[in-house]
Amino acid sequence: MIVMKFGGSSVESAAAIERVAGIVKSRAHCRPVVVVSAMGKTTNRLLAIAQTSMTGTREDYLAQIHDLRDFHSREARQVVPLGNRAALDRTLDEHFQELTELMKGLAVLGELTPRSIDAISSYGERLSSLIVAMAFEHFGLLTTHVDSRRMIVTDRRHTQAAPIYEETYRRLKETIPKLAAEAVVVMGGFIASTEDGVTSTLGRGGSDFTASIVGAGIDAEEIQIWTDVDGMLTADPTLFPGGHRVKTISFAEAAELAYFGAKVLHPATVVPAVEKNIPVLILNSRRPRSTGTRIVAEAVACKNVVKSIACKRNITLVNIHSTRMLMVHGFLHRIFEIFDRLQTPVDMVATSEVSVSLTIDSTANLAAVVAELETFSDVNIEPDQAIVCLVGDNIRYTPGVAIRVFRAVDTVNVRMISQGASLLNLSFVVADADLRQTVAALHGEFFSEIDPEVFD
Ligand code: ASP
Ligand code: MG
Repeated sequence: MIVMKFGGSSVESAAAIERVAGIVKSRAHCRPVVVVSAMGKTTNRLLAIAQTSMTGTREDYLAQIHDLRDFHSREARQVVPLGNRAALDRTLDEHFQELTELMKGLAVLGELTPRSIDAISSYGERLSSLIVAMAFEHFGLLTTHVDSRRMIVTDRRHTQAAPIYEETYRRLKETIPKLAAEAVVVMGGFIASTEDGVTSTLGRGGSDFTASIVGAGIDAEEIQIWTDVDGMLTADPTLFPGGHRVKTISFAEAAELAYFGAKVLHPATVVPAVEKNIPVLILNSRRPRSTGTRIVAEAVACKNVVKSIACKRNITLVNIHSTRMLMVHGFLHRIFEIFDRLQTPVDMVATSEVSVSLTIDSTANLAAVVAELETFSDVNIEPDQAIVCLVGDNIRYTPGVAIRVFRAVDTVNVRMISQGASLLNLSFVVADADLRQTVAALHGEFFSEIDPEVFD
């Protein structure tokens, strides 16, 4: 068995779904279990509808629901066999009626809880998986649809739920292999349910995570993440267009890259796969012959020190200064307790005797954090920063990497540096305005020659 996951852009239209059917057909002998995202930008649109139901008029959100139904209906009709059109219409009617009722209820209540956000955003994958399953039949694949909410069990942290692995794996093992022996199994990504059967989701971009959980649960030979890029690159193409494809990378390196914003993979994705040692492939559904990026347990030997340069933008730098910190214990505890209580995750940290600098991603509670910090320290906030992160297993074995990095970016003001937390990355903070220049300089330094075994 293999797991094949197709992202939103891979199922965004009738033509895209037809392409997916072709790819799945070509691997039918591997007994694929297919995991799909919501079609195109459906999740965003559902969340926008939820917002409109709070702030707009009834006509506004009804019109948005209507447009979303039209979109699904228009694309689906082209790939569902004539004999199934009535069933398709019934499915669409049922789901969109339910969604409309839900929105009406929420509009009356005037309150959007994480639990109702999950209920709403689940419609994307519920619909896409049913449509793709019908389409596969149309293209001659024997297909079974499985509602992921019956398989993936999570805790109650709605919009960001964590799987309860034991029960999830038990259910997957009991159900999926039997079905996959007979037909192609199609499931929605992202969606799950709590132990009480309430719909939950694994967080934005969570379909990759679903694929990995399913792969681990059924002991798949391989987990394929089909997307619209050729795999992982040596640099973010929106910042630096001249990057190379990374053909193979270790789990540990991929996890660092995902965490630091390489958008090809959800950061949590690799965890279940790592535990079961199942290779994960990143492949391009628009160029199915390209071999993509293979993520494997151990890094293969590579002549380059760095595998990829990742960036995380929209970072805020918080500088906390206090002379009272000198020689006093418990100071860091006091600081982190505030960030913890106000649910603000901290990414990078640097300390000196009298100051602490750290970076945060979410500024939702920043004002409250600052107010508390200011009761015992001076605080200075710098928005519009970016973390640049060089990842490579060889960084830990190679002397002189830091000097090459900082010589390459010697005209840029580096705000904060971190190495050591993970031996395979070296990260630093620069102003977002300097980011392009920084990435270009680093790429020139580390990828002017490439190891053909690892890069393309
Ligand atoms: N549809 C969900 C999202 O847009 C999950 C996914 O696509 O992976 O976040
Ligand atoms: Mg995605």
